[in-house]
Amino acid sequence: MEPTFSSSTDLIVAGGGPAGVAAAVAAARLGVQVTLVERYGFLGGMATAGFVFPFMTHFAGDRPIIGGIWGEMLDRLAAYPHGFKASTHFGLRHFCFDVEGLKQTWLQMCLDAGVRLQLHTLISDAMTDGDTVTGIVTHSKSGREEMTARLVIDATGDGDVAARAGAAYELGRPADGLMQPMSLHFRLAGVEMARMPSREEINALYARDKSAGLIHNPRENLLWFDTTYPDQVHFNTTRIVKVDGTNRDDLTAAEIEGRRQMHELVGWIVATIPGFERAYLLMSGTQVGVRETRRVIGEYVVTEAELLAETKFPDAIACSAYPVDIHNPAGTGTVMKHLPFGAYYTIPYRALVPQRLEGLLVAGRPISTTHEAHSATRIQAVANATGQAAGTAAYLALQHGVAFRKVDTEELRAGLRAQGAIV
Ligand SMILES: Cc1cc2nc3c(=O)[nH]c(=O)nc-3n(C[C@H](O)[C@H](O)[C@H](O)COP(=O)(O)OP(=O)(O)OC[C@H]3O[C@@H](n4cnc5c(N)ncnc54)[C@H](O)[C@@H]3O)c2cc1C
Repeated sequence: MEPTFSSSTDLIVAGGGPAGVAAAVAAARLGVQVTLVERYGFLGGMATAGFVFPFMTHFAGDRPIIGGIWGEMLDRLAAYPHGFKASTHFGLRHFCFDVEGLKQTWLQMCLDAGVRLQLHTLISDAMTDGDTVTGIVTHSKSGREEMTARLVIDATGDGDVAARAGAAYELGRPADGLMQPMSLHFRLAGVEMARMPSREEINALYARDKSAGLIHNPRENLLWFDTTYPDQVHFNTTRIVKVDGTNRDDLTAAEIEGRRQMHELVGWIVATIPGFERAYLLMSGTQVGVRETRRVIGEYVVTEAELLAETKFPDAIACSAYPVDIHNPAGTGTVMKHLPFGAYYTIPYRALVPQRLEGLLVAGRPISTTHEAHSATRIQAVANATGQAAGTAAYLALQHGVAFRKVDTEELRAGLRAQGAIV
């Protein structure tokens, strides 16, 4: 028989990715008793477990527009050897980082803030009382735990808690429900980068050998990034389509196909591209990267048109200039729609507040957007900014004894500014 026990806390943060760590750190620094529950033995979410890389832009043109906990994390990461460096891709400023430095940075920030960590703990269910979320059910080596809380923030990336609590959500694009493809990230070391041909030349080789039947991968080109190391190249090139990250069998199939594609690509790269003759596979994600699953329907649903129109919402809690970026859910091709240089849009607090349910906020990837808008708001810096807002909103809700949907957004925005966030 599995041992069963119970506990209680003020705030549960479900999931320790960029959204969850920011939510936990922000709330704990404000004096809230926070328990962060994470299924892996380390923090960071897709950036560490999925080896997703690099941090896409938190700039609008030449100006940072995400600060706060994200900015602090970058400052701390800089203290690690090979910690981080700025780079440019598609004309956007992004940041390369060291994955082990990131794991330790997020961990130390949580410990310094007094967050209670429960690692190696899978959340399997939500507890509710009518329309109010009252806690979560977890499973770990210790057994089954019922953890109650005054408030819960769902930062699982998949909206697991919200879905189990009965929140309305959508999956995929309206026409056929397909979600963005998954990708298994991997990295090669031992590369003589000075000998690498241009991106155009490499992709001409890729196109040639793909049409010759040597590469079996729906992606149109090889997508790679430089790193903080002089001889390592990071690949975001596998593409696994028509899979659902909330389905165990699809996840299993995606891991199998992602690893098949990776080994095929590694063999081809080493055999074909100058500079890679002595390269070797250094590392891949602990898990396949899942770009899109549930989008929890909130008090407001953000659309692509609003992002491209550079909308400044009155209850804005985060800014971003990241483009609409849809990897074809069905096969080849990637749609990118950029904002003008220096332009940015905002994300409203209402997109974090699920309809109907009380006691629950959603932060990070599953916030309330359309499929198209999600492709822009899903990146790590934005997830982190929404997490910081959620954690701060939890403090205000507890302090004033009000529901999440009644939090004074002017007070929230002022609180975020006081923490160095840009709103
Ligand atoms: C292939 C791919 C490429 C991408 N490229 C980039 C890029 O280049 N740059 C960029 O900035 N962003 C990129 N993204 C997007 C970005 O990585 C994610 O959208 C972002 O990490 C979302 O943050 P999050 O905190 O909401 O969720 P996640 O990062 O997914 O974190 C969720 C956390 O919750 C935990 N968790 C989930 N379910 C449970 C459960 N039931 N019980 C316990 N713990 C749970 C997970 O283990 C994880 O730690 C990419 C994503 C993918 C998949």
